[in-house]
Amino acid sequence: MKPFLNPAYCKGCGRCVVACPKGALGFAQEVNVAGYIPVSIDHDKCVGCGVCSMSCPEPYALSVLEIEEDVEDELSEAQEIAPVKLSMPETEPLMIKGTYAAAMGALLAGCRHFFGYPITPSTEGAELMAKVLPHIGGVFHQAVSEVATINHMYGCGGAGQPCMTFTSSPGFSLMLEGISYMIGARVPGVIVNVMRGGPGLGNIGPEQGDIKLACRGLGHGNTHSIVLAPADPQEMMDLTMLAFELTFKYRLLSIVLGDGYLGQVSSQVKLPEYMIQPGVPSWATTGDREHRKNLITSIQLSEADLEKFNIELNGVYTQINEREQRADLYQTEDCDILFVAANTPARMTKGAIKKLRSKGIKAGLFRPITLWPFPIDSLKSLVSKVKYIVVVEASAGQLEDEMRLALSYANIEKWPPIYHVQHFGGVLPQSEEIEKFVLDREQAK
Ligand code: SF4
Ligand code: SF4
Repeated sequence: MKPFLNPAYCKGCGRCVVACPKGALGFAQEVNVAGYIPVSIDHDKCVGCGVCSMSCPEPYALSVLEIEEDVEDELSEAQEIAPVKLSMPETEPLMIKGTYAAAMGALLAGCRHFFGYPITPSTEGAELMAKVLPHIGGVFHQAVSEVATINHMYGCGGAGQPCMTFTSSPGFSLMLEGISYMIGARVPGVIVNVMRGGPGLGNIGPEQGDIKLACRGLGHGNTHSIVLAPADPQEMMDLTMLAFELTFKYRLLSIVLGDGYLGQVSSQVKLPEYMIQPGVPSWATTGDREHRKNLITSIQLSEADLEKFNIELNGVYTQINEREQRADLYQTEDCDILFVAANTPARMTKGAIKKLRSKGIKAGLFRPITLWPFPIDSLKSLVSKVKYIVVVEASAGQLEDEMRLALSYANIEKWPPIYHVQHFGGVLPQSEEIEKFVLDREQAK
């Protein structure tokens, strides 16, 4: 029997053209509803050998039956399969390092696809995924580079599958172009970036030098991602799980921004009460009939269409800013001196606050958990009450810049003096010097 071609289901891969022994297949002149150039059959040349049907990866493209339904109507019916929360039995806490905790958080969030290129100090996260994923029906793929990694994620996320990578600062820089493409195509995915010392190749010590990139520099164009900043291994797990939830909720990449110390340090981690069985979003390009009309692309050749898309994207950013700000406040109820710190420096700062309080100095900590959006709503009420702010960070003011921008966009006309304790190059601020900074200021008065 000679096959019919159903152009709407052909993705134009050309396998059948190569396979046909009679030269009966060639490419058509027009694109189909899915945006591909399909093939066409010359039935006069065809001898009905069936080789083309066997070589075709699409179930409905080459068929002995002609599909006559209204393809447009049928293709619009893709249904969302919602993710399901599955209860977990209560277990004793585990003693694990931050990278392992993030990897376990990803697995519990339903991630079964990992792409990555190893880079210290994030590699152990990838190693755990390599050990576990093949045993639970997942895929671990070591890509040839970070550029390949992010583009594998583009493909996998475009198919609606939860996927992730572990990387560190130089690797993160290499991913920026692909990140912009993913944002431009509204493709979900999670990047765990365990930041290390820079610039350049730098070293493998802890730094926070990628805050600027993650919050303001995600490749070209109008790009933002949700940026979560854990401060201990428990949060490496919890925030990685949250990152998967948010990336699908908003169809926007999520970034978990840890630091080199946090990636390596071990502490008790309690497993969550549930794990996620992922669903299939209606927009996914799974390759089946129902999702055939879907198209994942960041190309918008018409200026008007691209402006419209950017306006929609801004709407998503606004929603995230309104709904997803998160911060941890520590001893801020009565504080005169407000520290602002994230990641490991926040832990050092808590130590300093305890010592300062024992000396009668009322200090408190504002710890942004979301670096983008910056949690300005909960900072606003504090700035008018304190004598001054001290930003503690392992970078040359990148967290401070985010805070100052947020203060200024919030139209807060007056804020107290802002000082800082900073280290870079793999050196972390220590509790003693944070305490001393405040003691020196107080004594100088
Ligand atoms: S059935 Fe055989 S001859 Fe006909 S188009 Fe397919 S491969 Fe070519
Ligand atoms: S008919 Fe099948 S094998 Fe041929 S180009 Fe289309 S999708 Fe590829």
